[in-house]
Amino acid sequence: MFNKLLGKFSKDLGIDLGTKNTLVYTADKGIVIQEPSVVAVNTRTEEILAVGEEAQKMVGKTPGHIEAIKPLIDGVISDFEVTEKMLKYFIDKVHSESFTLIPRPRVVIGIPLDVTEVEKKAVEDAAKSAGARQVFLIEESMAAAVGARLPVAEPTANMIVDIGGGTTEIAVISLGGVVTWKSLRQAGNELDNNIIQYIREEFNILIGEQVAEDIKVKIGSATSLKEAIEMEVRGRDLINGLPRAVKINDSQVREAMAKTINLIIDNIKITLETTPPELVSDIYEYGIVLAGGGAMLRGLDKEIAQATKIPVRVADDPLTCVVRGTGILLEDHELLEKVLSPGPEGF
Ligand code: ADP
Ligand code: MG
Repeated sequence: MFNKLLGKFSKDLGIDLGTKNTLVYTADKGIVIQEPSVVAVNTRTEEILAVGEEAQKMVGKTPGHIEAIKPLIDGVISDFEVTEKMLKYFIDKVHSESFTLIPRPRVVIGIPLDVTEVEKKAVEDAAKSAGARQVFLIEESMAAAVGARLPVAEPTANMIVDIGGGTTEIAVISLGGVVTWKSLRQAGNELDNNIIQYIREEFNILIGEQVAEDIKVKIGSATSLKEAIEMEVRGRDLINGLPRAVKINDSQVREAMAKTINLIIDNIKITLETTPPELVSDIYEYGIVLAGGGAMLRGLDKEIAQATKIPVRVADDPLTCVVRGTGILLEDHELLEKVLSPGPEGF
């Protein structure tokens, strides 16, 4: 019944609606969209000026009447209307770039673990009014685990830690379901904020979000490095308001980010403590898998392994894990059926 309902249509979509990046997957082309979750709006006319990459360039540089909105900043949809418009833009973009007779696709879409029924409905409605004919909601952790090719439907336990921009989601998965989990509103963005705060306190210099992220990616590290690395950073001197540059090194950045990294590690431990012992022993055996852009922070795998005494590995291409998972599920209906998020639509 289900299989007939969801016959194979190449234009069906898998979507990872992330707080930082939105990715779209189609069965015939793979990942077709990977852009920042940002929309630039003219606040006078409510008109959408740009979406994704183009809108991202406007962040922090917009004149009074233009606003660059990140509609998912808190991990869930904080601005429903803008999210809907963004989704519609991306879905239209996929369809306009290929000839298709099926303009209303079916969509598998990842949602965070701690969403309410109302929020689930909001995502579903956003996707539907953006043109989706049928929407299948799946927990992002589950999608990430599928994307990392973990045996999610087997009676063994796997722990997946997805560190995105706005949220860190820690989940233990077994037999097609999420058994225990924790969701934090601290992830990559918070690491950037930690760096902004550190540089303000240490040097009296104010830097922007983009600069902070740059520092994190270029010289950020969760463990000490064999050779120190440093970079020059420009910002605004808070005393005289003039531009000023300082040098910052990996150990300072590590100090800045420590509280957020420790919080993530503490929550991994707490999740393990609430997981049934049989499943914990599986996790000790098979290890913890990291996904999401935050997984690429240097040495984070090592740091977590050391703190938990459990082997840790970073999923291949962690930024695309969730969307590749939704793609696998588009094509494997049996698995989709097993892992579908419990909720209003189901099937
Ligand atoms: P989301 O699912 O919330 O959209 P992503 O999985 O796309 O988030 O990850 C985005 C986060 O990953 C951002 O905070 C970004 O700064 C961070 N990130 C990306 N690359 C790196 C890197 N090489 N080192 C550390 N953090 C990174
Ligand atoms: Mg994500």
